[in-house]
Amino acid sequence: MPLTSATDITARASEFGGGQFDTSYARLPQRFYARLKPTPVHSPRIVKFNYPLAEELGLDATRLASDAGAAFLSGTRVPEWAEPLAMAYAGHQFGNFVPQLGDGRAILLGEIIGRDGQRRDLHLKGAGQTPFSRRGDGRAALGPVLREYIISEAMYALGIPTTRTLAAVTTGEPVFRETTLPGAVLVRVAASHIRIGTFEYFAARDDEEAITILVEYALIRHYPALQGSPNPALALLAAVCDAQAALIARWMQVGFIHGVMNTDNATISGETIDYGPCAFMDTYDPATVFSSIDHHGRYAFGNQPRIAQWNLARFADTLLPLLDTSREKAIALAEETINQFPERFAQYWLSGMRAKLGLTTEQPDDAGLVQALLHLMREQEADYTNTFRLLCAVAEGAQAPAGFEAWVTRWRARLAQESSSSQDAARLMRAHNPAFIPRNHRVEAALNAAVKQGDFAPLETLLAVLSTPFAEKPEYAEYANPPAPHERVRQTFCGT
Ligand code: AMP
Ligand code: MG
Repeated sequence: MPLTSATDITARASEFGGGQFDTSYARLPQRFYARLKPTPVHSPRIVKFNYPLAEELGLDATRLASDAGAAFLSGTRVPEWAEPLAMAYAGHQFGNFVPQLGDGRAILLGEIIGRDGQRRDLHLKGAGQTPFSRRGDGRAALGPVLREYIISEAMYALGIPTTRTLAAVTTGEPVFRETTLPGAVLVRVAASHIRIGTFEYFAARDDEEAITILVEYALIRHYPALQGSPNPALALLAAVCDAQAALIARWMQVGFIHGVMNTDNATISGETIDYGPCAFMDTYDPATVFSSIDHHGRYAFGNQPRIAQWNLARFADTLLPLLDTSREKAIALAEETINQFPERFAQYWLSGMRAKLGLTTEQPDDAGLVQALLHLMREQEADYTNTFRLLCAVAEGAQAPAGFEAWVTRWRARLAQESSSSQDAARLMRAHNPAFIPRNHRVEAALNAAVKQGDFAPLETLLAVLSTPFAEKPEYAEYANPPAPHERVRQTFCGT
């Protein structure tokens, strides 16, 4: 039976609790994936388990965190409800089209319908080779797995749409990169794993039927209100443009740099996916790049909105045959939609930046006020996160930071036009300006302790601090500090 509504369910409770399961992607035509089981691992051990997420999914966390759970979460024992598969997709990597990528080291078990009725993919990253592996070993190393755990959960706590991590499981097997590293599997939970690259895979094969099916499926899963639109492909394109505009605006508001904004890493759901060499910016500079493989700064902090729009244009390309029977008209419709991206992005961005500055009303020069602050931050080499957090106190009367006096005078004049009190402004600001972000040097330190010394205490502390990023935590004040010069991380690696 195909999926006709987001609440269809075929399988029921499993041995791991009251969660409900389904495998709707496996019911799509065979050319959408390769069916295969994960490769069992030697000695699966859960090193980090996400109890709150298990709860939300309606799973029995205690049973799942047991040895039997480790066998399941590592892909060593496939539960009876699952129909494991590797998804087919293509993608533009650093601007170059690769007609076949696909899950080379990840396996989709199926979908869980959580307590909230939401359907989410349950996906094992590092689960062994697949027909899409090319020369890769199909495995993941513990460091990058824990890195994705930390950053995805930090993003979630910041309120940013993201895939999540249910568990990190070590395999008891080594993986061979530049050195020998402990192997691990990441259990990823996502609204879905449909990417712009999934559409590109079929477009490259002129498979219009597949794209029609995928449009319908994506609408059911992510934009059910748009089902039955007169032009479903156009409705989907507009919805994805909007979701991506909202998402990238959120990234820009917290200083997040994805690092590999390839079209295979751009979701149709609007969730952030694929935490490789991503990083949070300390000192404000739009040219910031951390990724060791981004030699030309294509995915620099300040380029992200432009790249998102470029990716969406690649998405629109795949939909052209569906948008209109006349190619000319199809292109016009696609362009009209894509050209709205900068405006949509600017609206989302400015509304978030207003909140960061304690503003609830709109004034024509608000964008100018924000730009003036950013300009100053760049000039002063100010820490992005801490400048905004300091301004929360300034809103309540604290002194302006050195160098920011004139700007603060201008901002105070703007705040005076608000009807709310300075306490209200500060409260709003503290809910939009995190005190804690996953700073690179803290992340690296936690990963080093876990991977090299088997000491997970720093990781646990870091995760706890990041789980409530807006709350003042004087006892963890050092986690808010930018790196000292000798602590600065200059490069991050995808570690695949
Ligand atoms: P990523 O850099 O994780 O977005 O992956 C890009 C592509 O490379 C995807 O098709 C992955 O499945 C594939 N890939 C990455 N690492 C491996 C690996 N260790 N073994 C097999 N395929 C991989
Ligand atoms: Mg990827």
